[in-house]
Amino acid sequence: MKVAIASGKGGTGKTLLSVHLFDNLMQSGEQVVLVDCDAEEPNDMIFFDGKLIDEAEVLQQTPIIDTDKCTFCGKCHEYCNYNAIFYLPPASMIHVIDELCHGCGACNVACKFGAITERPLSLGVVRNYQIRPNARIVESRIKVGVMTPVPLIKAGLKQIRNEPFVLLDSPPGTSCPFIHTILDADYVILITEPTPFGLSDLKQSVETLKTVGKAYGVIINKAGIGDSNIYDYLKNENIELLMEIPFDKEIAYHYSKGELLTEYNPKLQSDLNNLLNNIHKKYGTSNN
Ligand code: SF4
Ligand code: SF4
Repeated sequence: MKVAIASGKGGTGKTLLSVHLFDNLMQSGEQVVLVDCDAEEPNDMIFFDGKLIDEAEVLQQTPIIDTDKCTFCGKCHEYCNYNAIFYLPPASMIHVIDELCHGCGACNVACKFGAITERPLSLGVVRNYQIRPNARIVESRIKVGVMTPVPLIKAGLKQIRNEPFVLLDSPPGTSCPFIHTILDADYVILITEPTPFGLSDLKQSVETLKTVGKAYGVIINKAGIGDSNIYDYLKNENIELLMEIPFDKEIAYHYSKGELLTEYNPKLQSDLNNLLNNIHKKYGTSNN
């Protein structure tokens, strides 16, 4: 079963939830892998000691233009959907902006003058960590300056083997990185906070999940702050409130030190256990 943990905005507790769900499954002996798809800020590994078992660079074929062969016909510029080709014919200037290039190859197809060749460009790395014999963490990490984490996310997802339980720590937001992470998920847990920002971003996440037809439910983190508008919204939209995590100084204190809350907050752990069992019963392919 694949469960994605997502949020419309950063800072709502997505990592907190991901690492504790992972720890819960690991402690109960499940074969589990957590894929940290938040490639711009992967931090799940902060909470675990693990052995790096492999690391692979993610490469993208990126064009280079030979200005001696180029006739400045402009076809490649026209074909590029990502505005990655800087083209200034009066000054005989043309070059590829590596940071914007998506490696689609369209410019190469467009050029009839053999002026375009390709070279591999590093976008980042995917790392595999063994945490316990039954538990792995896969971490996608983008290189500074690279514009889109999507190739890193795809490469990370390819590292899923035959673990019966897969957790996906999604990047925040509702754009391409989020979509690529949750596309294959059986269930999405949205985590939010009871504030106007939390509600606004939750609404966007919900609309996106409705469009892609995913089953989902909501966890409210930092319950006790903000207002009740989010509860009204969930009720009116008939969206399942899976659980609440209280706004608690002790949680913030241990979390900020990169510590798991298991030993400090047994209630949180048992709530997460129930949550996983319920989701598995309802949406898993086989019940425990
Ligand atoms: S490979 Fe695709 S994205 Fe990159 S410059 Fe060529 S057309 Fe644009
Ligand atoms: S298509 Fe080829 S020849 Fe035309 S502008 Fe691009 S690189 Fe130059």
